[in-house]
Amino acid sequence: MEKYFHSVRLEKEKCSGCTNCIKRCPTEAIRVQKGKAKILAERCIDCGECIRVCPYHAKNAVTDPLSSINNFKYKIALPAPALYAQFKMLDGADRVGRVLTALKSMGFDDVFEVARGAEICSKAIAEELRKRDKRPLISSACPAVVRLIQVNFPELLDNVVNVDAPVEVAAKVAKEEFAKKNNVDISEIGAYFITPCPAKMTSIKSPLAKEKSDVDGAISILEVYGLLAGQLKGAETRHFEGEKATAKGIGWANSGGEVFAIGEKNALSVDGIANVARALEDIENDKLKDLDYFEGLACIGGCVGGPLVFESSFVAQSRVNTICDAVGLDQNVEDHAEVYAQDGVASTVKTIEPLDVMKLDDDRMVALQKIQQIDELLEKLPGMDCGSCGAPSCRALAEDIVRGHATEMDCVFILKEKVRYLAEEMVDLASKDKIRGDGEEE
Ligand code: SF4
Ligand code: SF4
Repeated sequence: MEKYFHSVRLEKEKCSGCTNCIKRCPTEAIRVQKGKAKILAERCIDCGECIRVCPYHAKNAVTDPLSSINNFKYKIALPAPALYAQFKMLDGADRVGRVLTALKSMGFDDVFEVARGAEICSKAIAEELRKRDKRPLISSACPAVVRLIQVNFPELLDNVVNVDAPVEVAAKVAKEEFAKKNNVDISEIGAYFITPCPAKMTSIKSPLAKEKSDVDGAISILEVYGLLAGQLKGAETRHFEGEKATAKGIGWANSGGEVFAIGEKNALSVDGIANVARALEDIENDKLKDLDYFEGLACIGGCVGGPLVFESSFVAQSRVNTICDAVGLDQNVEDHAEVYAQDGVASTVKTIEPLDVMKLDDDRMVALQKIQQIDELLEKLPGMDCGSCGAPSCRALAEDIVRGHATEMDCVFILKEKVRYLAEEMVDLASKDKIRGDGEEE
């Protein structure tokens, strides 16, 4: 396994070096050097923000192709609830059922809604809130936010709930149920997430809270959108046979949906990675210590706003609400979810370790000296955070210099000053030569 697997990649030849992306990266993971962007693998959290802001489409997300489902004898699709909100033709009864039926006809042997996994997680989180004293507890649902905590707020890792993400729970339950029902070996079953976001792909390939993901691949919503839209035209009358999620699970697609599902009143839901970073700062500074639960989602509006979706976040949010109203709540499904949650299906097994990417040196004394060097450099730098050096801020450049990845001359202001000084020196030397020459002539 790669040390740092990342779904978000740079297509170097498309990059113009415009520096648009460097300031929007929440972990300062991008530098522009020699006219091209570069992603620092150890810092990237795969939030997808740079995909959104690059005017040249030089950043993209790598996901699995649909054909990869053929690696397994039996294939299960795990649709994110955000998928349902991509289609405007979903009027009438059983609109979710029509999407599930259409998915099945694309080559899957079964479909299991991630929203059902979300229902099990909701029960497990409510239970953890009851049992643990730590406050506020922080949702583990958005992998980009969990990685942001790991990189920028490691002291908050203990606040993250020990509950798996809905897609992991869905994969586990779906495979077990399918194997039992069809009397087949679980290793022959592949579970594929239909994903709205690259961070989910990363969490599958390189999981944080478990050794190995139960999900076998992630296919982007964008990849299946066209095919599904075609299939949906003929799926109006075909109903999905099988258990379906309720509004509590489907609502997780929108920001605030998780909080509604766990039934916690003293909770805060924040969307957009920059807003989440600010809220985490407040939690770190004990400004939100009276809060019981924090739900942070990297994308605007929640998972419906992921970079791998077709529809606008606002349209999709409104459709999720309409779908939830139509689907409603069902006590039988609730009870079922409770049984799974009590069985510990949703519990994570591994502690998330902090990533020491900000550490300057293993030796404390050397690290302190480096901090001092950074402070001295900051005195020299203009403090304008202009980004023309290719680093997102003067502090980031100072840190890069101390780490040996950049030089003072990368700062255009210092370079200009140096050039001006050299030009003055040359004029000075030339005039001294002239005076000496004039003297010799006499
Ligand atoms: S995906 Fe997010 S964290 Fe990674 S480089 Fe892009 S903006 Fe930064
Ligand atoms: S936004 Fe970043 S990746 Fe895109 S062209 Fe500009 S520097 Fe390159």
